[in-house]
Amino acid sequence: MSRAILRYMRHTIRHEPDSEVLYEAFCAASGCEESSDPQLAQEAAQDWCLRHTGRTGHDLFRRAVIDG
Ligand SMILES: [Zn+2]
Repeated sequence: MSRAILRYMRHTIRHEPDSEVLYEAFCAASGCEESSDPQLAQEAAQDWCLRHTGRTGHDLFRRAVIDG
């Protein structure tokens, strides 16, 4: 039997107010792996979705919001 030493520390995960928030949209159509790439403006990711739908007919997306 082995012994382990466990250490605990207090931590908080939160948004850093001075960091940027990025938005990325991913096409959810079967077989399509396109994405908007990270965008600084939410509207830019949404505009990419509209252009992608117009070009391909794909109309279902996932969105990721990334903060630092
Ligand atoms: Zn697509």
